[in-house]
Amino acid sequence: MIVVLSRGITPHDKELVRIYLKDRGFAVRDQQFGEDEVFGASGKGVVDLRELGLLPGVERVAATSKPYELASRETRAEDSIVTVGGDSSCPPVKIGGSRITVIAGPCAVESREQIRETAALVRESGAVILRGGAYKPRTSPYAFQGLGMKGLELMKEAGEAEGMPIVTEVVSPELAVDMKDLTDMFQIGARNMQNFELLKKVGSLGKPVLLKRGPSATIEEWLLSAEYLLAAGTRDVVLCERGIRTFETYTRNTLDISAIPVVKTLSHLPVIVDPSHAVGIRAKVAPAALAAIAAGAGGLTVEVHPRPDEALSDGPQSLYPEQFEKLMRDIEALAPVVGKELLRTPRPLHLTVPAAMLAPASGAGEAGGPAGAKFPREQVAYNGESGAFAEQALTRIFGEDAPRMQVQSFKGVFDSVLDGSACAGIVPVENSLAGSIHENYDLFLRYPDIAIVGEVKLRIVHCLIGDERAAMDSIAIVRSHPQGFAQCREFLGKHPAWQLEACNDTAGAVASIAREGAVKVAAIAGAAAAKAYGLRILKEGIETNPLNYTRFLVISRKIDSGPSPDSRRIGGAWVPPSLGSERPSKASMVFSVADKPGSLFACLKIMADQGINLSKLESRPIQGKPWEYQFYVDVSIPEKEGIFAAAMEELKQHTEDFYFLGAYRGSL
Ligand code: PEP
Ligand code: MN
Repeated sequence: MIVVLSRGITPHDKELVRIYLKDRGFAVRDQQFGEDEVFGASGKGVVDLRELGLLPGVERVAATSKPYELASRETRAEDSIVTVGGDSSCPPVKIGGSRITVIAGPCAVESREQIRETAALVRESGAVILRGGAYKPRTSPYAFQGLGMKGLELMKEAGEAEGMPIVTEVVSPELAVDMKDLTDMFQIGARNMQNFELLKKVGSLGKPVLLKRGPSATIEEWLLSAEYLLAAGTRDVVLCERGIRTFETYTRNTLDISAIPVVKTLSHLPVIVDPSHAVGIRAKVAPAALAAIAAGAGGLTVEVHPRPDEALSDGPQSLYPEQFEKLMRDIEALAPVVGKELLRTPRPLHLTVPAAMLAPASGAGEAGGPAGAKFPREQVAYNGESGAFAEQALTRIFGEDAPRMQVQSFKGVFDSVLDGSACAGIVPVENSLAGSIHENYDLFLRYPDIAIVGEVKLRIVHCLIGDERAAMDSIAIVRSHPQGFAQCREFLGKHPAWQLEACNDTAGAVASIAREGAVKVAAIAGAAAAKAYGLRILKEGIETNPLNYTRFLVISRKIDSGPSPDSRRIGGAWVPPSLGSERPSKASMVFSVADKPGSLFACLKIMADQGINLSKLESRPIQGKPWEYQFYVDVSIPEKEGIFAAAMEELKQHTEDFYFLGAYRGSL
């Protein structure tokens, strides 16, 4: 039984509760449970749960029918979210909830070059935590045992270089203490799942733990091992299914897919899957990984090696870099089907803008850098209120702790980036159902000093949101951004009597209902906005097609329009360093061509001749010039130096107006 104590309980009341329990035959343990202090009470005592619940300082009593209490869903109904890393050397990465978190790396750390190379390539494909063994529990005493502490140091160095927290296996209680400051997460290997002294020691260190399921462990035994860790003091345990021993010998183990939904019912702890050790054969890793995601796993840990054939351990099951990249793309496509999003490179907004570049708190300032210059403030602007989709896009690319600034129009985003009140901004440019957002394309043309420096694509699930007392048949008015209406046209078509009122943003529509407390008005917005304003979701998933994505662009000020001693020049733009560390893979432009035969063809031929792939070509009437058109074009940037720049120069010769909007790293 778990007795959750109120946050402000007095020491006196706490003592009274302890005595109350002891008097009734319970052994009482002080424990931490998430943010709460709890008493764990065990024994054969008998107690009136209602009476216990009424004692001063008792928040609630969770009596479970399971032998594991802290790990049980009966004790905590909502999913636990585990945070890994988050110190000065790497951004925090979350596991659990609606995200899919991918951990990847080699089976074992073999050398500095090998771990650095692997870290860079798995990060490039979208892994967010680096794995690797420094102490390898091998079946044979003659097999490679790992580089030990040196291996761990090399791995930490590689993780820091890529901004990734690390996870590594710990094999003894003594080593756990030595490893504590170097690793961000401990892994308890399958063979050690029931090494209770190890569990107690590792749990007491308070770091997140990845707990592999033993090859012959039942689900209950596995959860009891998790209980050991939680009871010893850590709050953060992630369960990892990695295949169990069955009579089948074709694969190394048998991946117990059904354990995923079962564990999710029994426990609030996040559960991820290790397809590599489960199947043991490279070609079978991706199908097993996708099946795990489809079954509800909150993430994966995958073995990847730059040259698997040379790997010192588990080469046959390690993926080639290209296989891992393909797997990540497939996971991204599959994630929305199970209502999740692949957690991609959650870059924190430590834009490492040199202190001298930051504006004084009052806004854009003149002081602290080259004379007369304006320096951007370290915050990102978006149009809308809390819970807006643009805010989710911002969080995705800059991380949860990124300082943000709300403005009331798309133009406001451009203005604040230009005048330096924000160092970057987020604007939507295209939706997969409703098409391009021309207002923002027009703004790019009106703000030549602003460039695109990043991209993020977000799945958009719309909800009909109303007051607590509202019902579908009480609704007369629906508010949203015009894009919200456009993306839910079919649903709105079924309610022709509803009057539509356009708002500045979807979350703003929700905020207005919260302010007015109106039961006749509903809003179309995302679930995050309903949560932000404490309103009710009347209907979820009302967008016309579930494959509904919006493409947001990150904008920043061009380098020539502002000083930036440390920033990187990419495509002529001032790029916040956190975005600028990757090679740009995509570029966007707008141009118009002469009204004569073959003029557009000539432009397209330049790209075709250079092997430049077009991912978007859209024509749009030029305002004030009836029947003349401009083209929105997105292209991929070839890896070979020089080709792209030469093609752009040539293109300029063949176009009438040519606006280069920016070169950036495209999102999948
Ligand atoms: C590992 O992940 O490196 C490992 C040895 O896995 P397991 O303990 O699941 O065999
Ligand atoms: Mn391995």
